[in-house]
Amino acid sequence: NYSNRHIDEPQVVPLPSQQQILSTPHLSDYIDPLPDSVNPLLHSRYFHPTEGFWLSDSDMVAQNIAVDILDPSSHTQTFFHRAGPRYHVKFTSDEVRAAIVTCGGICPGLNSVIREIVDALWYQYGVKQIYGIEGGYRGFYSSEPIPLDPRKVDHWHNYGGTKLGTSRGGFYLKKIVDAIESQGFNQVYIIGGDGTMKGAVAIFEEVRKRKLKVCVVGLPKTVDNDVGIIDRSFGFQTAVEKAREAVSAAHVEAESTPNGLGLVKLMGRNAGHIAVHATLGSRDVDCCLIPEVAFFMEGQGGLLDFVQQRLAENGHCVLVVAEGAGQELIKKSSSSSEKDMSGNPTFDDIGLWLGKTLKDWWKSKHPNELFALKYIDPTYMIRAVPSNATDTAYCTLLSHSALHGAMAGYTGFVAGPINGRFCYIPLDLVANSKHLVDVDNLTWAWVKSVNNQPDFIRKEQSEQEECVQ
Ligand code: ATP
Ligand code: MG
Repeated sequence: NYSNRHIDEPQVVPLPSQQQILSTPHLSDYIDPLPDSVNPLLHSRYFHPTEGFWLSDSDMVAQNIAVDILDPSSHTQTFFHRAGPRYHVKFTSDEVRAAIVTCGGICPGLNSVIREIVDALWYQYGVKQIYGIEGGYRGFYSSEPIPLDPRKVDHWHNYGGTKLGTSRGGFYLKKIVDAIESQGFNQVYIIGGDGTMKGAVAIFEEVRKRKLKVCVVGLPKTVDNDVGIIDRSFGFQTAVEKAREAVSAAHVEAESTPNGLGLVKLMGRNAGHIAVHATLGSRDVDCCLIPEVAFFMEGQGGLLDFVQQRLAENGHCVLVVAEGAGQELIKKSSSSSEKDMSGNPTFDDIGLWLGKTLKDWWKSKHPNELFALKYIDPTYMIRAVPSNATDTAYCTLLSHSALHGAMAGYTGFVAGPINGRFCYIPLDLVANSKHLVDVDNLTWAWVKSVNNQPDFIRKEQSEQEECVQ
């Protein structure tokens, strides 16, 4: 009856739906009593909060916005606590001793996040004891915390990287929590990727076990945009913008010579979001290769076949490849068990491998025809820039959301946007989630349609599929 609508007779059709609240952990779950204070923002020089300014625990954000009304299982709604200032807080300004740490690889926006945490704690909440932990997790037990104030961090957002330094490895739980305890930190802001968030979960659990009044807050960082649950992570939009410049350069190079082939390798170990969005945002790409979609080189319908066709039709061709794509094609040059200091498997360079394979192929197939392959790997240029305007604004909201939550006593949470509104999400949920490019949905269909690129299905495979049908 959904299709029998009459414009002059609006219908309200009730739907059966399931609802669940994902409660954010709170200090009061294990500390009793935990007295309230009135939020210092009430008396702030800078704020004149109106009644609607304050959020309460009943303010929630729903996760699903697109549902299939004919499929009751898709109506299940999960609600998350909305981020923002609470009228009552669990810390007084003088009591707070905050620590900020950055771990893992660098990403545009790290310095903006640090700066905004410092500024907002200082100006909004009157907190004066704010410290930076240098060099990642190991900094908790191997160096002295450095005092931070708005003056010190004033220009930090204009720089790429992290002014606090970062590292991989060095995660010794006991040493870290001992240091948190002995330094008297009671709000710990941890900025980093998936590994860092797993570490933050362990710190939160240990702190809870020791019944310490310490809020552990995660601020997810991944330029690849592969964190689950949240809409997107900071640095991603900056990365796409810079990636587009590389694609554009590859296109100009390719167009300028006979049989010109531009090849750009972009970040994305598990998820090809940067490659996808740079492709959609530039419109100069002939084929986008991502970790979520397998491809093959030789034989009918393979990548070489496709490149041959594009060169014949247009005289040039541009390929974008995400770093995690086609790993299974590379005859491992290094031992497959090689790991970095944090225990992550290292990747073989698909860009170099593809470039060499394409050059060798052309030379053997068309030895007397001109050909030029221009390979661009802009990875470190992209990672090292400061955040753009959109990401900087995101970093500000993210940081404010995080510290409003800590001041209110929430802990073991990640701050991040869900459907455009910042929320508090349990840390372990985010640490164990991944956001891959959904190749069954419209975005990937969109990529294929703008590039007119194939699905890379082997002939035998498609015949088999036809037989099954
Ligand atoms: P990215 O991969 O985006 O650069 P990341 O946070 O995943 O960021 P890693 O180098 O994997 O970067 O980890 C950062 C820190 O987190 C390191 O100090 C590492 O020892 C620690 N870490 C990684 N995985 C875990 C884990 N499972 N449990 C505890 N700590 C971890
Ligand atoms: Mg990682």
